[in-house]
Amino acid sequence: MRMAATIVSLLGLTAMAAPTALADTSCRGGQSFAAWLGEFRSEAARAGISQQGLAALDGVSFQDRILKQDRGQPSLSQSFLDYAGRVVSAERLSRGRALLKTHASTLEAVRRDTGVQGPVIMALWALETDYGGFMGKTPLLNSLATLAYDCRRPDLFRAELTDALRILDRGDLTLAQLKGSWAGAVGHMQFTPSNYLKHATDFDGDGRRDLVGSVPDALASAGRFIRSLGWRANEPWLEEVRVADTVPWWEAARATFRKRAFWDAVGVRRADGSALPADNVPAALILPMGRLGPAFLAYQNFPIFWEWNNSSNYILAAAYLATRLNGAPRMNRGSAPPILSIADMREVQERLNAMGHEAGTPDGRLGEVTRAAVKRAQNELGLPADGYPTKELLQRLRGR
Ligand code: CA
Repeated sequence: MRMAATIVSLLGLTAMAAPTALADTSCRGGQSFAAWLGEFRSEAARAGISQQGLAALDGVSFQDRILKQDRGQPSLSQSFLDYAGRVVSAERLSRGRALLKTHASTLEAVRRDTGVQGPVIMALWALETDYGGFMGKTPLLNSLATLAYDCRRPDLFRAELTDALRILDRGDLTLAQLKGSWAGAVGHMQFTPSNYLKHATDFDGDGRRDLVGSVPDALASAGRFIRSLGWRANEPWLEEVRVADTVPWWEAARATFRKRAFWDAVGVRRADGSALPADNVPAALILPMGRLGPAFLAYQNFPIFWEWNNSSNYILAAAYLATRLNGAPRMNRGSAPPILSIADMREVQERLNAMGHEAGTPDGRLGEVTRAAVKRAQNELGLPADGYPTKELLQRLRGR
C-alpha cells in the first residue's frame, strides 16, 4: 500500500513538473504556466480586478484535457438529417413546447423588448444546454487560463479570462457557479465571458445578472444578444419549402439572397405545396443535402444564427427546431444519397483542388467553400450543380 502511494505521488510530481505537455508554447519563450499566470495576475490587477477577484486565480491549474478537446477533430461525418434527428428529437420538442408555456410571460416580455421570438430563444437553449440540463462542469477559470497560455489564440482567451474575473467582481456569479464548457462558455445559453459582460441582463430583478441560476435572466439575455447581432424584429428566419427540377441549383447557397418572387418563378413552393408570395422579400435557398434532400428558404434573420455558432448543421438544426416550436410540421426528409465518409470527402476536396476548383484545405468536412467548389465541378461535368458531393460525383472525378 505504502509503495503504491509513493508511486502515485511520484507520478503526481512528474505531472507537476511538466503539466503543459500539449500546449503550443511557441509564443512563451520557455515561460512556465505558473510564471505566466503570475504575470497575468499583475496585468489583471492593473486592469482593475479586485483583490477578491484576483484570489480566484489561486486555484487555477493548466489542464491538458482542455487542449485535447480543443484540438479534437470529429471522426464521423454527419449529415444534416443525422444531426437534426439527434438534436431535434420528439422529446426535445415536447419539452420545448412545455417550456414555452412555463416561460410564456418572460418570453413575451423579451419579444416586446427585443423583437426576438420565443421559439428562437428556446431552440438555442435546447441546443446549447438541453434547456439547462447540461451547462458543463469545468471550472471556467481553468479552461480560459489553459487556452490563454496556449499559443493558438492567446489574446482572445486572455481577454476572456479577464472578463470572467470581472463577472465575479460584479457579483453576477459566485466562483462556485463559474463552471461551463471546456471552451470557456457559461450558463444556460453558454455565453462567453465577454458576451456575458456586454449582454447579460437582470430580468428577474434580484440585483444579479445570473445566467446560471436564473432562467428568466438567461432567456432575456439571449434576446438582448440576438438583437445586438442585428435580428430584424418579429421577422421570419426559416421556412421549409419544396423544390422542382426547374430550380437553378447553382443559386442555392446560404449567402445568395433572391426575391421571393424569383424563387416562386423558378418552382419553389411552400412545404404544403401552395405558392410562395411573389414579393420582394429576400430569401436564400438552402439544400443541406442537395436537390433531393430537405429544402429551406432562409430569411434575412437566418445569418444571425451564423453569428451564434459556425457549424452549418448546428445553425440549420437550431433554426429548424425554432420553426417546429413555432408550429411548423415535421420536415420532408426527401431521398438524398448519404453523406460521403470523411475519407471520400477528403478525396473529393483533393481532386477538386487538383482541378483548380479551390475546395479549401482537404479536411473531410462539407463546408461552404467545398460546396461552392463542388458546384463548379458539377457544372463542368454536366451534373445538376447543387453543391452536394455524392459517390457518383467522386467516381466521375476519379475517371477524369
Ligand atoms: Ca437576476
